[in-house]
Amino acid sequence: KRLKPASTATAICGYCATGCQLKLHLDDDGRAINLSPQAGYPVNLGMACPKGWQALDPLDSPDRATTPLLRNEHGEMMPVGWAEAMDAFVSRFKNLQEKLGRESVAFLSTGQIPFEEMAFLGCLFKFGMGFIHGDANTRQCMATAVTAYKQAFGFDAPPYTYGDLEESDVIVLVGSNLCIAHPILWQRVMRNKRSPRIIVIDPRATETAQAATQHVRLKPKGDLALLYSLAHCIVRDGRTDAAWVERTEGFDEFAAFLHDYAPERVAEKTGLSVEEIESLARTVSEPGKRVSWWWTMGVNQSYEGVRAAQAMINLALITGNIGKPGTGANSITGQCNAMGSRLFSNTTSMVGGHDFSDAAHREKVAAGLGIPVENIPSDYSLAYDQILAAAEEGKIKGLWIVATNPFHSWIDSGRLAELREKLDFIVVQDMYHTTESARVADLVLPSAGWGEKDGCLINSERRIGTVKKVREAPGIALSDFRIFRLIAHAWGCGDLFARWTDPEAAFHFLRDLTKDRPCDITGVEGYEMIDRLGGIQWPYPATNPPSGNERRLFEDGKFFTSSGRAKLLFSPPAELPEAPDSAYPFTLLTGRGTSSQWHTQTRTGKSDILRKLYPQEAYVEIHPADAARLGLREHEMVTICSRRGEMRASIYIAPTVQPGQLFLPMHYPEVNRLTHPSYDPHSRQPNYKACAVAISKT
Ligand code: SF4
Repeated sequence: KRLKPASTATAICGYCATGCQLKLHLDDDGRAINLSPQAGYPVNLGMACPKGWQALDPLDSPDRATTPLLRNEHGEMMPVGWAEAMDAFVSRFKNLQEKLGRESVAFLSTGQIPFEEMAFLGCLFKFGMGFIHGDANTRQCMATAVTAYKQAFGFDAPPYTYGDLEESDVIVLVGSNLCIAHPILWQRVMRNKRSPRIIVIDPRATETAQAATQHVRLKPKGDLALLYSLAHCIVRDGRTDAAWVERTEGFDEFAAFLHDYAPERVAEKTGLSVEEIESLARTVSEPGKRVSWWWTMGVNQSYEGVRAAQAMINLALITGNIGKPGTGANSITGQCNAMGSRLFSNTTSMVGGHDFSDAAHREKVAAGLGIPVENIPSDYSLAYDQILAAAEEGKIKGLWIVATNPFHSWIDSGRLAELREKLDFIVVQDMYHTTESARVADLVLPSAGWGEKDGCLINSERRIGTVKKVREAPGIALSDFRIFRLIAHAWGCGDLFARWTDPEAAFHFLRDLTKDRPCDITGVEGYEMIDRLGGIQWPYPATNPPSGNERRLFEDGKFFTSSGRAKLLFSPPAELPEAPDSAYPFTLLTGRGTSSQWHTQTRTGKSDILRKLYPQEAYVEIHPADAARLGLREHEMVTICSRRGEMRASIYIAPTVQPGQLFLPMHYPEVNRLTHPSYDPHSRQPNYKACAVAISKT
């Protein structure tokens, strides 16, 4: 291997929503042979976590899908060319459409591909192929935040910039293990020179909780009651910010609702003392202090995540901690391009953050894309869980799975194994032919991965960055963008998508469609400008483009609602959907276990170095008192079972969990055999975080 690159290129990392920029070291042929973190990029400031450092490894894996694979009459997957693959795709899905209509096939896609590809998929499937249902794995990570922001602010608008982590006096992390889930953002916290108080609200003593100033160790899903109790104390003590309360709707109703949430009344539900709650309320409302609220999956992946997110939004609003440096109610997204999905293709929104149900939006999008307006459905898509339920009922018979692995990652995954038998045709479009989902497919379409194609990703702080093609995809694998072009042509709607020649061409007309929306980026000239400015946060309108490369929203106190005021939204906390009982006496917590593996390990599991950094066999954390009571020893194999399934794991004894709780990292495929299929009623996000299980010696 040569040590000095012939040239370099840059690309945003393709894993988490932090959006670090990597410098790719190229050989004489323009092929990436190595990488390092980009020093001057305003997000990562020269840092990367282990996943980013090893981002090239998964491209060289021997199990890359190199050619389409089609299941034959004997049930074997056989290599075929693209023409035969397209024939099968079109004939099988058209057959279902003719027999069962436009709801017969659905797609399940991803927050891991550039937004030009996401937009293409959504437009092709709905406006070209004529179906209406498609959702993404972003349902599993940020649907809650989307809904919370849309309802409260009038648009899905995370208000912050990462610089706020360095400018806060009080940083409150709720259900966020920032140290390992977003390690570079944790480094940003460590750079804060204001000696901030770092408060972690989490049932588990995570790495972040252990490093924090204060760990508020509440009971599982005690967060909503606690947040209401904090608001109760603040309103009771007159510690609200009158000017910001004026910029909200519903304050009187909220104040009346809070009457029932005195610390004495929530102590039992939260597992906290009255003094702890009162003290915390004073800390998060101290006059003159900049308080920021940050949340991730501990809040989002819950049966009442939207209201918990809005409870933080309410606290930020009524204390005036928004629209100013070091403040905000801030969702840190999971995937590298979850924000792209939020703005360019999800169940309710189409390109440019437009709403399917709005006739004027449909007209504008049709004109911008050059397609008949009748092709755009006014109906929202079913959400992920509803798509699977419709498949169980036989209403949906075909699934097109793009760059995601639901047979590992979806909640209560045993149900999907049964569902497989009810589906007529499953297409999996992926880099690998070995994922749990690809193994049950009827047709595998081999796709290029990160590093093998161009496009844009949008990170958690709304920053658009580019990814580059610095490797050739193996065999005859193609970028998702080119696969969509092939499908458009084969389906017979290629003329409608003639302008979608390549990702940057698509960027230009997608950009134009954002005009006058809150996410207006009409001032962005193209990929070169994005790279030159170190990424660009939306909004960036052509008229009066903002200066500087770090900006937050709502500095003027105006929100995107029709009144211009933010809405205070709330409802009473519900009981755990599945509380522990005598048969299943433990509460199972799940979450990220390491910074070196990503989700289902589909890509990171291909790296020798990353595998060495994390146990490949499942382990379960148990409190020392429970281990002693049950006679369990370190590393002993146990069986963990729920009402839905069971799995084996080795014992790891640690007081990171409280007595009566177990923790399993989500990276092992068996974990979702156990999880409970319950959902937030507003966002339909699955409730991965708490269910009832039993543990026994194997
Ligand atoms: Fe940065 Fe996230 Fe990539 Fe790690 S995985 S390098 S934190 S973007």
